Amino acid sequence: MKIGVLALQGAVREHLRMLERAGAEATAVKRPEQLAGLDGLVIPGGESTTIGKLMHQYGLSEPIREMAASGKPLFGTCAGLILLAKRIEGAESAHLALMDITVRRNAFGRQRESFETDLPVAGVADDFRAVFIRAPYITEVGPGVDVLARIDDKIVAARQGHLLASAFHPELTEDVRMHAFFVEMVREASAVRV
Ligand code: GLN
Repeated sequence: MKIGVLALQGAVREHLRMLERAGAEATAVKRPEQLAGLDGLVIPGGESTTIGKLMHQYGLSEPIREMAASGKPLFGTCAGLILLAKRIEGAESAHLALMDITVRRNAFGRQRESFETDLPVAGVADDFRAVFIRAPYITEVGPGVDVLARIDDKIVAARQGHLLASAFHPELTEDVRMHAFFVEMVREASAVRV
């Protein structure tokens, strides 16, 4: 099981470490040819506009979309969630436009710019320590999307088939369960492809 972490910006090393702890081989991805042979990909947090531009400049957008089209799982955290979304509030276009969700950027406002809270995440944990940093949330999901976690009415984690997204940063905790959940998705998907 070999999983890439898109390494254009953000908490790359932390994701690599968590994937390894969850039992996968993990590698940083900067160029399109490094996607070959991967079973899944993590898209970390950072600044979604910047990552989106770099992804485009480095010719990574299309190969990542193709990777998803071939059934390989993707996991976007925070800015990565924004990059996966089909719709971004107030923006004319989306980035990878893969997941049937609408997102609102920097959605918790100045009062709650960065905070941590324990959340139940369906199928993952009853008490996941969720770290939010200028986080987005999901305002709408399409019919094929399962909501995994909410804060009040705000959706902060979701799954659509082989696509997983969280508004929080599971790589910034010591809790490996969210990455283990993703590694299991990757294992299931690769079993189906064989
Ligand atoms: N606020 C960032 C954005 O909109 C996301 C923040 C993050 O990834 N921690 O792109």
